[in-house]
Amino acid sequence: MKYVIGNWKSNQNITESLIWLDSISALRLKYSPDTSVILCLPFTDIAAFNQHLSDLALPIITASQNVSHLPPGKHTGEITANMLAELVNYCLVGHSERRHEFKETSEVVAQKVRLLLENSITPIVCLDTPYMDEQIKALFNADIDVSRCFFVYEPISAIGTGKPIDPVDANHVAGQIAFLTDNSAPILYGGSVSQDNVTSFVSQSKIDGVLVGTDSLEPTLFAGIINSLS
Ligand code: PEP
Repeated sequence: MKYVIGNWKSNQNITESLIWLDSISALRLKYSPDTSVILCLPFTDIAAFNQHLSDLALPIITASQNVSHLPPGKHTGEITANMLAELVNYCLVGHSERRHEFKETSEVVAQKVRLLLENSITPIVCLDTPYMDEQIKALFNADIDVSRCFFVYEPISAIGTGKPIDPVDANHVAGQIAFLTDNSAPILYGGSVSQDNVTSFVSQSKIDGVLVGTDSLEPTLFAGIINSLS
């Protein structure tokens, strides 16, 4: 199975998200059963988007971009894994933007992963080389079954810059992640992936798919990436 995961970040309100869905539906893509398409949405879009997805019968799976590291309780404003369990099957955790802007640590990410797994949501754990070992160690220290996670290698130099790294180098790091996680989980690459370069990444032996930021916002570009894999 190959994976195309979109990440809208803090873009698109409900109205815009439904227009995006109508646009991609109008393209009448042929979705391959060997490619799984997952879209990480802002919390506020998920319920309406799910409803419209089911109306249109499109094989897109929804995910969130974050979750609270706390269980249900007195934590004003937090969105818990228990709340998300009724809405999504996947959740992004540890994106470098959250590490940088919200000072998330590897331990906090591990707490999020634990709560997601307790609620049957698959965590999509983002990694970069400076903290890759530390993050994976924190998961093992928290007794997490890493075979129930996805991992994404996202070199910071490639995120949102239009400058992807060399696919062979990405494959090398994906191999290191595979080694550290006992070859048990899907491993993806993220960073300036486009319809023009996606096959050069997914044709690598250790790369099972891609995480796409910028080009997931434009339906024709995201469709081009899905098409390239089909
Ligand atoms: C991302 O932020 O996860 C990402 C991969 O972004 P972009 O595709 O814009 O580099």
